[in-house]
Amino acid sequence: MTPQDPNVTTSLRVIPRDQHSVSRKDISPNALRVLYRLREGGFGAFLVGGAVRDALVGGHPKDFDVATDATPEQVRALFRNCRLIGRRFRLAHVVFGREIIEVATFRANIDDGSGDRETHEGGRVLRDNVFGSIEDDAVRRDFTANALYYAIEDFSIRDYVGGFEDVQNRLMRLIGDPETRYREDPVRMLRAVRLAAKLDFEIEAATAAPIPMLAPLLAESAPARLFEECLKLFLSGHAVASFERLERHGLLSALLPETAAALASNRSGALRRMLLAGLAGTDQRVANDEPVSPAFLFALLLWPAYCRSLMALQARGMHTAEAQRRAADQVTVHQLQRIALPRRFSLPMQEIWLLQSRFSQRQRKRVFRLLSHPRFRAAYDFLLLRLTASNEHAADVEFWREAQLESGDALSARLEAEAHGDGDTDDAAPRKRRRRRRSGSAVAAGE
Ligand code: ATP
Ligand code: MG
Repeated sequence: MTPQDPNVTTSLRVIPRDQHSVSRKDISPNALRVLYRLREGGFGAFLVGGAVRDALVGGHPKDFDVATDATPEQVRALFRNCRLIGRRFRLAHVVFGREIIEVATFRANIDDGSGDRETHEGGRVLRDNVFGSIEDDAVRRDFTANALYYAIEDFSIRDYVGGFEDVQNRLMRLIGDPETRYREDPVRMLRAVRLAAKLDFEIEAATAAPIPMLAPLLAESAPARLFEECLKLFLSGHAVASFERLERHGLLSALLPETAAALASNRSGALRRMLLAGLAGTDQRVANDEPVSPAFLFALLLWPAYCRSLMALQARGMHTAEAQRRAADQVTVHQLQRIALPRRFSLPMQEIWLLQSRFSQRQRKRVFRLLSHPRFRAAYDFLLLRLTASNEHAADVEFWREAQLESGDALSARLEAEAHGDGDTDDAAPRKRRRRRRSGSAVAAGE
């Protein structure tokens, strides 16, 4: 038992090098440098957290966190390329060009009356700033799989909370009492889902049980943090798995309330199909090392909400163009209360939505203006996705696919001919029938 938390029983298990799969080849040379230097300085030096966990399951860790008994000042004295950051808890960053190795002094999560820790009524931790033992450091972490220490002195893994076995069994298990730990920091619910999705783990039963009930607590978490967490959920190559798990654990309605409501009321399931197709496409792009954009992601995640708002406004008799702008603003403003989507993403997100209704327009001037719009490509890719929800857009997709391939002159001539009705005669072997413009048809159906 630790004195800190009566709910956590710790016992040290040392897994020697020949009984685990973490090898120095999995660790970045700079992280190894930091570990060795700390050890030479007479300090304990451990790799900890996501890097050990990922290396154990055969992944390729990208960031490396180091834990030590050296104080931040002692760490700084060992490295020229070191700066201390953080007010709430001081950390050392050892900087190697673009790679930063974070070195944290073991810390405890205790209310010892020293006044360095404050908890608000709901149990949320506001400040914690007390150095501790390695054992203290282990139990204040979130999941057992995240609390494994790889010791540079003998390449063993030190496990105080049963994390090694949980990783073997592919389980995310909270350390301590789950409800207490979620109340301390509701983002841990998202981390459970995200890490399970990323690693293809299950969330252990007692860890999963309180999530649906506590999901509303996410409303109290900092919107900037939720934005960061969303990027990790959906732009790291496991968006489909993340989404399905968010739904399964009752977290979708806490994170994206209007989208969750719109999906629930869309009986055909078309909006959900489109959303999942878009997320699958995002995963594919990540797998291919192609760029992915938060603006496109949020355009996708909030599209059901946008369609729903738009339909409601139109039902009240609002003119289409006006309703589109209002719906885009409404959805953005509401969602911003929860997730701090920066304007550099929310503006292009809205453009992607608003451009959708312009794909049904065929007047020459409008066609050329849309083609040269900076957001054309993103909006067109979005239109392609909408095809998975409704075949209604097939003709538009076809038209704009060709329009992008044609020379300006050829396109001009074709539009001219179609405008004069030539395209509708059967002798000219028309490339495509001219589609009648229906005002607002692009999203009037809501999908
Ligand atoms: P990834 O880097 O794949 O997102 P990670 O586990 O490394 O996963 P980080 O945010 O880098 O996540 O956190 C590093 C470590 O810090 C975690 O492994 C965990 O031990 C600890 N940690 C992070 N967030 C929390 C939290 N909310 N509560 C308790 N411990 C946390
Ligand atoms: Mg990490």
